[in-house]
Amino acid sequence: MRVDALFHNGRFHTQDPDRPTASVLAVLAGRVVAAGDASLAEQFEPARRYDLQGRTAVPGFNDAHNHMLFHGINLDAVDLSSPPMRTVADICRAIAERAATTPAGEWVIGAGYDQNKLAEGRHPTAAELDAVAPGHRVWLKHTSGHMCTVNSLVLHDIRDTPVPDGGALVIGEDGRPNGLVQEQAQAMVRNLTYPMSVERMIAAIERANRQYLAEGVTSATEAGVGAGLVANSPLELRAWQEARRRGVLDVRINLLVAVEALHHLDHHHDDGEIFALDGGLHSGFGDEWLRIGGTKVFSDGSLIGRTAAMIDPFEGGGCNCGFFQTEPELLRRRITDAHRSGWQVCTHAIGDRAVATVLDIYEQCQRELPRPDTRHRIEHCGVIATGLLDKVKALGVIPVPQGRFISEIGDGMKAALGLHRTPDAYRQRSFLERGIPLPGSSDRPVVNGAPLLGMHDMVNQRTASGEPFVPEEAISVAAALRAYTAGSAYAAFEEDRKGALAPGMLADFVVLGEDLLAVDRDGIGEVPVLATVVGGEARFDRLGLGD
Ligand SMILES: [Zn+2]
Repeated sequence: MRVDALFHNGRFHTQDPDRPTASVLAVLAGRVVAAGDASLAEQFEPARRYDLQGRTAVPGFNDAHNHMLFHGINLDAVDLSSPPMRTVADICRAIAERAATTPAGEWVIGAGYDQNKLAEGRHPTAAELDAVAPGHRVWLKHTSGHMCTVNSLVLHDIRDTPVPDGGALVIGEDGRPNGLVQEQAQAMVRNLTYPMSVERMIAAIERANRQYLAEGVTSATEAGVGAGLVANSPLELRAWQEARRRGVLDVRINLLVAVEALHHLDHHHDDGEIFALDGGLHSGFGDEWLRIGGTKVFSDGSLIGRTAAMIDPFEGGGCNCGFFQTEPELLRRRITDAHRSGWQVCTHAIGDRAVATVLDIYEQCQRELPRPDTRHRIEHCGVIATGLLDKVKALGVIPVPQGRFISEIGDGMKAALGLHRTPDAYRQRSFLERGIPLPGSSDRPVVNGAPLLGMHDMVNQRTASGEPFVPEEAISVAAALRAYTAGSAYAAFEEDRKGALAPGMLADFVVLGEDLLAVDRDGIGEVPVLATVVGGEARFDRLGLGD
């Protein structure tokens, strides 16, 4: 039989229960035709033959929740992540440097800062930013995506704009805004540069695409496009489509459309509720490269920003229980409309009050209009009481937690929750033990999105300070790999084509410098990615496959 490509001399962990290991993979039209041992090679006449040089290969990594476009944009911003940033003064210096090469009046944008990791333990202020860039518009994006800091010129630009519900401009001791902008109020800043041009978005996608392939990411779910706070333009779907057409996007993308982009459409009375994009487009439209997955709904904020909706107050005194970004009644209406119209609903919920509310709404949806296999998701599912786990299972809900949060923001999360609530945070094992699906995801650019770093934390459960996070929730490296492959595929209704290297499945895999399943657990994050193959073609290649 003629095939397009034959990958031989490999050590494939296929994740196919019928044939867990193989040394040869035959590919036709971007899909696996057969996986087997060396004798298989004789059955095929390949147009191309690739020697994996005895290396380990696993199914391609699939990030179930990330913001690739944002990440690509941030790759162009001043990097304010810690390290290297240790103090507010470090941030000010970095901003001053960029301002020196930026025309006056223009934007100086920094991304990735986290006040929890700065020696001062606080956000920079507008006054501090004014001192280093008085003639520029300065916008520092917090790593959580749930807040930002701006300077006085920007505060001046937005002075007449009403502060939207679910957001706040934080007031300083002098009774005036101090530069910190929370949650929905970020739209006031965002709107000054919104919408971004399609060309800029394509360039950002292209930048991110290169990095993703180098890290073994072959599929990703883009968590929120087209509208709402996370959008860069109403034309985001067009930017993704055009990036694909131009050949600068070869990571497979599942788009979660922001619920704000959906509307009620006229319809024949036989058609029931239609809450969709124009034309009635909804979950599943597209192809194996670029498709519309679910709809993204926001309920609350973040733990480290202390804006997640909690049942009891955050630690540290006071009565701050966070808040809902979307009022619960509006939340209920949006989720119900989307459910009735056939969407997979993917709701961001981090605080235990938000998680309980969303589960309640999903339950009501199923009671009033039962739909088989909805796979509604809870993005992050940050804090969930043990008593609600059975409900998650019974409703078939998929939690989408982020492993890498543990090391990068775990100390901040523990500080916000206190010891008594930390065991409820970012669960993994509790889900798997109950047969609840577990995808792997990063929420990049919130944290480093390299999947091997995510798996490292899922297994090791240690924060940046070296403290254990929740050791009881640690899982094996095999389980972490399953999460980042089969788990993520299931969470996007793509388990028929992704997550295993078996006949009929997409030929997406990663060649690694070490055997991931045999490596010391402390070394998981350092396993080198040597090559990334998507659709049977090497899109990243440090191994010399193409020779
Ligand atoms: Zn996100």
